[in-house]
This record gives sequence, structure tokens and C-alpha cells, in this order.
Amino acid sequence: MMAEKEHMIQCPKCEWQPDGGSYWSCECGQVWNTFATYGKCPSCSKVHRQTQCPMCHEWSPHPDWYLDLEVLDISVLEEKELEK
Ligand SMILES: [Zn+2]
Ligand SMILES: [Zn+2]
Repeated sequence: MMAEKEHMIQCPKCEWQPDGGSYWSCECGQVWNTFATYGKCPSCSKVHRQTQCPMCHEWSPHPDWYLDLEVLDISVLEEKELEK
């Protein structure tokens, strides 16, 4: 599932804004842009609830990065996976 619209995204700690690069890696070895999938690994489908900033290296809850999203229910992503 890819994001269809551009979100306002920035690090809650240092206000760095992701530039679309693939800075995040999963324990399965996948490297990708976590904001394209709301934190869900495109390879093993693990949902990463915490996202580390590549600039300040602080961890923040994934939904906290979205400035224009009131509520991001990550559990919806996980439930979809269970339905398969
Ligand atoms: Zn940061
Ligand atoms: Zn993975």
C-alpha cells in the first residue's frame, strides 16, 4: 500500500523533513522509504511503530511524524495482513 498523497512529514524531535530517500532498514534486510508505506516493511510486512530519524537518530512513534494526520491507526495495517 503506497501513500497516494503527499503528507507533511517531519521529525518530531529535530524537524528534519524526509526527502523521499530510503534511509530506513528492517531486520529482514529491506531498505526503503518508510513514509511511503506508513512504516510497513515492503518485504516482510512487519509494521514498524517507531521510526528513527536519520538526522538526529532519535526514535519517535511513526504517527508523530505526520503533521497533517490527526490519527494514524497503524493497527489497521496489521489487521489487513491478518485477513490474507
Ligand atoms: Zn530528527
Ligand atoms: Zn522487513
